[in-house]
Amino acid sequence: MAQEIRVRYAPSPTGHLHIGNARTALFNYLFARSTNGKFIIRIEDTDNKRNVVGGEESQMKWLKWLGIDWDESTDVGGPAGPYRQTDRLNIYNQYVDELLQRGLAYKCYMTEEELEQEREEQKAQGVLIPKYSGAHRDLTEEQQKQFEEEGRLPSIRLRVSENRTYRFKDMVKGDISFESNDFGDWVIRKKNGIPTYNFAVAVDDHLMEITHVLRGEDHISNTPKQMMVYEALGWDVPTFGHMTLIVNEQRKKLSKRDESIIQFIEQYADLGYLPEALFNYIALLGWSPVGEEEIYTREEFIKIFDPNRLATSPAVFDPTKLKWLNNEYIKSADLDRIVTLALPFLKKAGLLEGKSEEWAKDLIALYKEQLSYGAEIVELTDLFFKKEIGYPEEAMEVLNRETVPEVLKEFKNQLLQVEEYRSDSIKGAIKATQKETNQKGKNLFMPIRVAATGQTHGRDLNDTLYLLGQEVVVYRIEQVLNVLNK
Ligand code: GLU
Repeated sequence: MAQEIRVRYAPSPTGHLHIGNARTALFNYLFARSTNGKFIIRIEDTDNKRNVVGGEESQMKWLKWLGIDWDESTDVGGPAGPYRQTDRLNIYNQYVDELLQRGLAYKCYMTEEELEQEREEQKAQGVLIPKYSGAHRDLTEEQQKQFEEEGRLPSIRLRVSENRTYRFKDMVKGDISFESNDFGDWVIRKKNGIPTYNFAVAVDDHLMEITHVLRGEDHISNTPKQMMVYEALGWDVPTFGHMTLIVNEQRKKLSKRDESIIQFIEQYADLGYLPEALFNYIALLGWSPVGEEEIYTREEFIKIFDPNRLATSPAVFDPTKLKWLNNEYIKSADLDRIVTLALPFLKKAGLLEGKSEEWAKDLIALYKEQLSYGAEIVELTDLFFKKEIGYPEEAMEVLNRETVPEVLKEFKNQLLQVEEYRSDSIKGAIKATQKETNQKGKNLFMPIRVAATGQTHGRDLNDTLYLLGQEVVVYRIEQVLNVLNK
């Protein structure tokens, strides 16, 4: 039987779920689900200063919102726990001790200042990338004791072999190699007793029996260090895969500080994006299916996912495409769901006072086809919430046509005569206007639409006029006639 695939997403709980991290999680999830493997979430919280309160919960909450679930983690447990690195310190220590005993790691008592001085000296000699000199590689017990007596604390460094080439076949990028001589003996446990990222990750990935480490390209240069740990401890190396960067439309790496692009999943939820649309969008960020189709459900992605199709060039984050995709999902969603999605935005904007719930639902129904995301309902329906509207140039072009005043006057009369103001009676009024004025098609509909909405395009005319209300429509027609001086 083939080995079960075990993959992981290993967030540091430093903030909200970023689109790049969501993508890492999502591809690992698809990989596990498409192979009947296991998907594990491990919390990498050893850097206390960067952790934020609630960071772990927020990662999980927003992954769940996206439709991603997992088999093992801090919340659901699992056979390879604990799944939070600060709960695993004794495990790391055990391996640090083993390496110390075997002479594959050693204590280094150098201070920050001494290390800094070493780097400066190397730079002065023209060394481009300074590395640890190995000054404390072979301290005698006597020397060590002396440092201890001075009150110095040791960090633990891994002894890096000379003239070794670390090669791996990256799932995404192909053959990659690093020379050990480019690395100094590096710290596996800091003076404060906390393991470094590269050490803890290698230990965890091994003990959690991770078969494939699929993560962002920014971790490529960490891979040789992790391979050194596997080697020292006599472990098999997993398969590595490094996904390309996500870039903006200017081909620059997405920076969390760039506020021109919305980058956190929570923000998309707050704006009224649908989780399936976001899932779909992220799944196409650096991965592509066979063929042209771009809309897939999660189950379909699980069926068609193939890690060999991960892109080798950077994935461009295109907010317009995301909006398009979200609109596609809104169009095919049930009306009730979209009402639930969009209504709170109208409420929050204070627009629904004095309006019935039914009216608001009809309004959302009218704009469902056009809506890209929930919050957009407010700007799309702006003309329903004020009496006065503007008439831009293209509207005036329509209104200045010779036949317009006659049509508008007649339509106003017809409207005032309807027994009950409803969509179908409005339709009747338009018909009657056609009969009386002999205008039809564009000459009939456009002046009415433009006078009532200020827009040359819009939703269904009868429904629009109905939801605007008789009073407002008549008022706007009168205003236009005044301006036209008729
Ligand atoms: N904790 C690391 C990060 O948040 C991920 C480490 C890994 O995937 O190896 O970038």
